[in-house]
Amino acid sequence: MSKLFIPGPIDVSKETYAAMCRPMIGHRGAEFEALYASTQPGLQEIAGTTRPVFLSTSSAWGVMEASLRNLCAKKVLNLCNGAFSDKWFDVAKKLGLEADKIQAEWGETIDPEAVRQKLEEGGFDLVTLIHNETSTGVMVDLEAIAKVVKSFPDVLLVVDTVSSFSAVPTPMDALGIDVLLAGVQKALALPPGLTIFACSEAAIERAKVQPNRGYYFDFIEFAKNAEKNNTPSTPSISHIFGLQHILEEIHKEGLEARFARHRSNNQLIHEWGARHGFENFAPEGHQSVSLTCFKTPESLDLSDFMKELKSKHGFVINGGYGKIKGLTFRISNMGNETTETMQELITAMDDVLG
Ligand SMILES: *Cc1c(COP(=O)(O)O)cnc(C)c1O
Repeated sequence: MSKLFIPGPIDVSKETYAAMCRPMIGHRGAEFEALYASTQPGLQEIAGTTRPVFLSTSSAWGVMEASLRNLCAKKVLNLCNGAFSDKWFDVAKKLGLEADKIQAEWGETIDPEAVRQKLEEGGFDLVTLIHNETSTGVMVDLEAIAKVVKSFPDVLLVVDTVSSFSAVPTPMDALGIDVLLAGVQKALALPPGLTIFACSEAAIERAKVQPNRGYYFDFIEFAKNAEKNNTPSTPSISHIFGLQHILEEIHKEGLEARFARHRSNNQLIHEWGARHGFENFAPEGHQSVSLTCFKTPESLDLSDFMKELKSKHGFVINGGYGKIKGLTFRISNMGNETTETMQELITAMDDVLG
């Protein structure tokens, strides 16, 4: 059996699996409502919001697409600098929305001043941003970009924190973020299939008057049901058992300690890379702390390296995503990893590199 160090889905602990195996309960009843309610304080603390945090039985893309459908009445500006953020622009087009983008090179960050200039052109009412571009290991300056977007009062800001939620601070209310979303299979270390998201009051007001929201991903349905600690349709209840467990673990550890653990584990991988002369794909100052993306040096046979790491040691890393597949490789330190487990991976990688 092998262990995942790919940047999602990531390794799930035995304890989380055990929590998910609790006997099934009905979702229209007090027991479920108590379960749902129990997730709120933890999720709100991590998200930095007093707003309800909705539970969507879908991968992140469900809510990423829903944000466009619920909130874009005029024109969306997609901030693109990697596979996931680029795709958000494609999805907006597929929905038939008016969409424009700022396209940074993969591996680069998003320049807040460029966002300001683009928004000054006018006509936009929504911006999409990926906090931590998992495909390139770039983490943008969330605070600076949010500040720029917030200076345009009619423009709402949707932020994808799929691979940064609970790994670094993402203070939704303080930054004026209108939708904050995260699929649970990355930084939250649950199996894929659930996405958490919160909406500002302004987002809910916008959604209310937006036609063609559909049903399954209608933000207003989520808001109405959340008042009763419930979901519009039958949720993946096992996931919510797992979520409750993970939130207890996070509470026990403490958020600050969790952030610090991610920083130090990430540092171990940076140091390991530096020892081997591997260069970071992301520029200094914009590097993710939940994963590391290295440029593949010519001297490294990446596919042999990954194969042997898996067959000999049972560890799986990722060989690059999308158009930088093979040119880069990625190592995750999200979720439950400790100094010891990162060290095990490093020892194994050193063994394979010889
Ligand atoms: C993985 C990922 C997604 C897509 O998530 P799905 O669960 O496949 O829908 C979106 N954004 C980021 C930043 C991701 O890392």
